[in-house]
Amino acid sequence: MQHVWLPYTQMRTARQPLEAVSTQGSLIRLKDGRELIDGIASWWTACHGYNHPHIQAALRDQLEKMPHVMFGGLVHEPALRLAERLAQKTPGDLNHVFFVDSGSVAVEVAMKMAVQYWLNRGERGRAKMVSFRYGYHGDTMACMSVCDPDESMHSLFKDYLPKQILAELPVDPASEQTFDDLLARNRNQIAAVLIEPLVQGAGGMKFHSPEVLRRVAQVCARHGVLLIADEIFVGFGRTGTLFACEQAGVTPDILCLGKGLTGGALSLAATLARPHVYHAFLADDPARALMHGPTFMANPLACAAANASLDLFETEPRLSQVAAIETQLREGLAPCAQIRGVLDVRVKGAIGVVQCATLGDTAALRATFAEKGFWIRPFADIVYLTPAFTIGKDQLAALTTAICETLPEWLSRS
Ligand SMILES: *Cc1c(COP(=O)(O)O)cnc(C)c1O
Repeated sequence: MQHVWLPYTQMRTARQPLEAVSTQGSLIRLKDGRELIDGIASWWTACHGYNHPHIQAALRDQLEKMPHVMFGGLVHEPALRLAERLAQKTPGDLNHVFFVDSGSVAVEVAMKMAVQYWLNRGERGRAKMVSFRYGYHGDTMACMSVCDPDESMHSLFKDYLPKQILAELPVDPASEQTFDDLLARNRNQIAAVLIEPLVQGAGGMKFHSPEVLRRVAQVCARHGVLLIADEIFVGFGRTGTLFACEQAGVTPDILCLGKGLTGGALSLAATLARPHVYHAFLADDPARALMHGPTFMANPLACAAANASLDLFETEPRLSQVAAIETQLREGLAPCAQIRGVLDVRVKGAIGVVQCATLGDTAALRATFAEKGFWIRPFADIVYLTPAFTIGKDQLAALTTAICETLPEWLSRS
C-alpha cells in the first residue's frame, strides 16, 4: 500500500482499501476470505460477469498464439474480425474502426478526427467542441475540457485546458432553440458536438429521452456540425439495446466504444467513423493521414476477448436479461423513493440510480456496504447499480434490499 496511488482518493485520509484475490460471476473474493456481491461490474465493464468460460477460453487460446504484436504496419485476424463485426453491429454505416487502448483515448482520437476532418476539407478554424452539462468523457486533458466543468474541476486546470463550448441538452422546444442558436452563432468555430447517448454516466447518471438525442442529431445536421456519440458507458446493451443510439434511430458521424467491449477482461476501445469522415483522410498528401497510434492499439489478446464477448451477445440472451434486470431494479429500488433525503429513483436498462440530497462521505458509505457483503460505489449524490447482465435474481435482490435498508439510517445521520 505504500507505493500505489489510488484513483480519486485523498491518500492522506484514505481508509485501507479491500484487497481482491479472485472473481467469479458477480462475486469478488477478498483476501480475508469474504465474498462481496458486485453491484457495479467493475465500472460496468464485466457485462457477462467475471471469468466467463467462453472469454477465458478465447484468452487462453490467443495467449498461446500471440498475446501482442504491434499494429503499425502489421494486422492480425482478431483485429480484422473484430473491426468487421463492430462495423456490422453498430448503427448505420460506421464502417471504419480505429482501435485504441482506453476509453479516454478513444474520445481523444474522435476529437482529433473531427478537427482534422475540417482541415483536410480546407475549412480552417473549426477546432472547438460542444459538449453538455453533466457530461463525462474521460480524465485525460482534452477529455477533461469536454466534461462538465464543475465535476471535472475546470477551474483547477483552466490555464491548461482548451476552451470549449458548454451546452444544455435540448430537452424541450425552448432549449432546442437555444441549442440551435448556439450552433448557428458558432458553427464556423465548431468541429463537433459530443454526447453520451441517453445516459450521462460518470457525470451523475442522468437520463434523457431518445427524442432529445434525435433533436441533437437534427440540429447538428442542420448546421453541418459533426456528431460524436460517446457510447463508452452505454454501449453493449447497458440501456436495453446493443447501442443506445439505436433507440433514437441516430447514426453519429463518429462513435466511441470502450468499457464493455472486451466483456471487462482487458482494456480496449475503438473510435468508429462513417465513410464521409474516413474519406476526408484519403489523399495523395501523407499529411492528411490520421497521425495517431497507441503502442498497444488493437492488442490481439484484448481483441480476442472482445470477439468472445460479441459471441456471447449472439449466443446468450443478454438483452432479455437486461430487460429483466430493468424490471427488477424498478421494483427493488422503488421503496427508496419514500426515504427522507432521497430526491429521485430512476432506472434505465441495467442502470439503477438513487439520487439523494446529499450523501456525505461516500467512501464511508462504500465501506458500510462492503461490511454487509456488497460492492457498491456511491459517488457525489448518487448510489447506483450497474450489475453484470448475468447476475442472479437473488444476488440483485440482495443488492437492492441492501440499498433500501442502508440509506434511511445513513441519510438520517448526515
Ligand atoms: C469511462 C468513460 C470514459 C473513459 O474511459 P477510460 O477507459 O476510463 O479512459 C469516457 N467516456 C465515458 C462515457 C465513460 O463512461
